[in-house]
Amino acid sequence: MTIHQNFIAGDWSKASAGAPDVNPSNTKDVIGEYARASKADAEAAIKAAKAAFPAWSLATPQVRYDALKKISDEILARKDELGKLLAREEGKTLPEGVGETIRAAQIFAFFAGEALRVTGEKVGSVRPGVDVEITREPVGVVSLITPWNFPIAIPAWKIAPALAYGNCVVFKPADLVPGCAHALSDIIARSGLPAGVFNLVMGRGSEIGSVLTEHPDISAISFTGSVGTGRKLAATAVSSTPMKKIQLEMGGKNPMVVLDDADLKIAVEACVQGAYFSTGQRCTASSRLIVTQGIHDKFVDAVTERLKSLVVDDALKAGTHIGPVVDQSQLDQNLKYVKIGKDEGAKLHWGGDLLNRETPGFYMQPALFTGVTNAMRIAREEIFGPVATVIKAKDYDEALAISNDTEFGLSAGICTTSLKYASDFKRKSEAGMVMVNLPTAGVDYHVPFGGRKGSSYGPREQGKYAVEFYTTVKTAYTLP
Ligand code: NAD
Repeated sequence: MTIHQNFIAGDWSKASAGAPDVNPSNTKDVIGEYARASKADAEAAIKAAKAAFPAWSLATPQVRYDALKKISDEILARKDELGKLLAREEGKTLPEGVGETIRAAQIFAFFAGEALRVTGEKVGSVRPGVDVEITREPVGVVSLITPWNFPIAIPAWKIAPALAYGNCVVFKPADLVPGCAHALSDIIARSGLPAGVFNLVMGRGSEIGSVLTEHPDISAISFTGSVGTGRKLAATAVSSTPMKKIQLEMGGKNPMVVLDDADLKIAVEACVQGAYFSTGQRCTASSRLIVTQGIHDKFVDAVTERLKSLVVDDALKAGTHIGPVVDQSQLDQNLKYVKIGKDEGAKLHWGGDLLNRETPGFYMQPALFTGVTNAMRIAREEIFGPVATVIKAKDYDEALAISNDTEFGLSAGICTTSLKYASDFKRKSEAGMVMVNLPTAGVDYHVPFGGRKGSSYGPREQGKYAVEFYTTVKTAYTLP
């Protein structure tokens, strides 16, 4: 089998070792062999990026626009093929895979436009005759480190702004999803960017992570992944020389409050969508459903009925609502938490079993726990699978307090018909993103994305706010 290679200094470099990329819906289906980058590959990528930076940092906005627009156009034209690859590799359903691919194209188009809109300021000086200018410049060589759960969209929302604002990129995808990373990189490689501006190194974090985060020629690190890895990277960023700018997007334990006055149909749809779609493998998944006592039993019955109607099967099959879990270790983690929940005294109200399907894959029935308290581990720790907990609250005030009682703060939602409670929740929720009568997962691409507390660190991603991370500000004084 040919080995899909890393892209370094404008070339698909040769690697001796590769690893198989396996379909989680059918473990007999090997998508391909993908190179595993060595430390030397990572160093070569950084060297190439550094060499390309002086010219790229001064490239005109039109040149950057053209490259990003070309990337966007090709992704969009190939959305069905790329969406299918995504579903086959990560286990999202085909419509979810195509949807994510379209999102990636939209993000590249958005940042193509942003490349034309970089502005500065000219302000009056406190000293007579002096001009003061504030301008934005690219940061330098950036390491972009991404997780497996959005294998096209998350790379897109880091690579597109990095290039738009004139940085050079070393991109390291998660090792579970090299296929999407390689396909995206192949499109980027043909977009007209000068050699070295964009580099792909597929490899394990434990193997090449230290090079990508400690190397003196790396100026900034944008990371999305687990809290544990994020913390390590933050410590490295400040202890290495020179210190590096860092942006972290990490886990969540996102609350969805359902009040007595909620429209039941809307609430059930928002909760089921938010908690279980994409197999619950979303940092914004609604894993804590905090339900006030007047609607609690009706809500649990309606969610259970809805869960019974969901088809868990091969991600590529028409009619599948929920694909497999991404791999064996994530499946083991989900099942471990199902056991923990039962041992803690919560009631496993529905699901939580392993499922057999036509093909060997990591299939799991969505699980719903009731009788959960917010002190239980299943309510406090990120599971990252199709497991949701229902926590009963006395009233709105108690529900709000429970929703904020978490070390995370990514996304939070409320289902209510009351303007008073919706407004109060929007103001008092300690999350970076708040949804009213909408799932906690599902966001727009032209506005900031990110959280608070243990979920995020550093400037926001996406929309025009991305400029904060991918540029550095210079203040220049002139006496003409
Ligand atoms: P992970 O932390 O295991 O890995 C993320 C990336 O970091 C991978 O590319 C991995 O290879 C790399 N990595 C691991 N160790 C490293 C090291 N020492 N140095 C450098 N890189 C290293 O996370 P994951 O399992 O891929 O993804 C799941 C997690 O991602 C969940 O916690 C989820 O909530 C989070 N996530 C967050 C967001 C968000 O925007 N907040 C979005 C998606 C996923």
